[in-house]
Amino acid sequence: MNRRPTIVGPILETLRGSRTCCVVGHVRPDGDCIGSQLALARALQNQGKKVVCWNQDPLPAKFAFLDPEHQLTAPVRGRAFDCVIAVDCASLERLGRTASCIRRRRSLINIDHHVSNTCYGDLNWISAADPSTGELIYRLLQRARWPLNPNLASCLYTAISTDTGSFQYPSTRPSTLRIAAALLQRGANLERIAQEVYQSASLARLHLVRTLYQRLELHLDHRVASFALRQTDYARAGAKPEDSEGLIDHLRAIAPVVVACLLEESGSEHTRISLRSKDPRVDVNRVAAQFGGGGHPAAAGATAQGGIATVRRRVLRALTEALNTATPVNSRPPLTPNHRRRPAPRALTQP
Ligand code: 5GP
Ligand code: MN
Repeated sequence: MNRRPTIVGPILETLRGSRTCCVVGHVRPDGDCIGSQLALARALQNQGKKVVCWNQDPLPAKFAFLDPEHQLTAPVRGRAFDCVIAVDCASLERLGRTASCIRRRRSLINIDHHVSNTCYGDLNWISAADPSTGELIYRLLQRARWPLNPNLASCLYTAISTDTGSFQYPSTRPSTLRIAAALLQRGANLERIAQEVYQSASLARLHLVRTLYQRLELHLDHRVASFALRQTDYARAGAKPEDSEGLIDHLRAIAPVVVACLLEESGSEHTRISLRSKDPRVDVNRVAAQFGGGGHPAAAGATAQGGIATVRRRVLRALTEALNTATPVNSRPPLTPNHRRRPAPRALTQP
């Protein structure tokens, strides 16, 4: 793996030559997006640049502690920048409304780790081998010799920790843990991060989790678990969109489940699809791509036209094919060492 990609030099040159910068990230930002955006914005500010940090969606409450100065704001039209940097964002569309506010710029830098990245920047640093964009930002700052302070370190630690599932996903590498250690050394506040990010679920979220366990469905020989989240569920639970982040992990955590699928009503005519795969042979990025989305082999998403029932049928059809290709009949291993082997493996039929 190329630890010193040649693109980093030109990116640093462009950043050094810019006086006004705008750091942007994807809609419905997660910990990696927020941590990477805030860390890069602060680092640029520390270099004396005029910086804004934009996201079309508000900062989720659990990350508010990372932004005590309310640096992350909603985008506005008509501003001009020497340089716009998009982080953790696979395509211009994923910037949502922000995309129309960054048209007046000299250069667009794209720093990301999604294999599905469309390389929409003038300079593109896409490293799909990296488990988080936070790691890329850390390397960028190291290479620039820009100093880390405790707040920056907390932002990057949060980015890395959340996108590796707390250092559990197989994408986690020895270097990931070494960077995490370096960030702790630089003052990342592990106690606060653990408390705010992992131990502060709202009661509204509890209601959503309860609904999930009541209503989840198992399909395809228990190898797929799905849950449909409707607008009425949000209303009943008093939940905000951010309260549903990570709900899908409850589906993934079930032993025989290979692919977790969360479907969410989006307006009256669209359904958001979230997918997670526990088997490296089942690439959900490719499944999401069939619906116009993308992401990573183990975690991907899309927004499809149609209601939940129609979209669920289509997703299950696509997953049937993906699972049958990954584990052909007769070569299918027992589901887990502790799981009772089923009498005779059989081909999955379309739902
Ligand atoms: P989530 O299921 O958490 O929304 O997203 C999982 C992964 O897929 C994330 O890395 C996210 O960036 C990506 N992703 C989610 N939705 C979309 C989408 O509509 N388009 C693309 N290109 N990527 C998506
Ligand atoms: Mn990410």
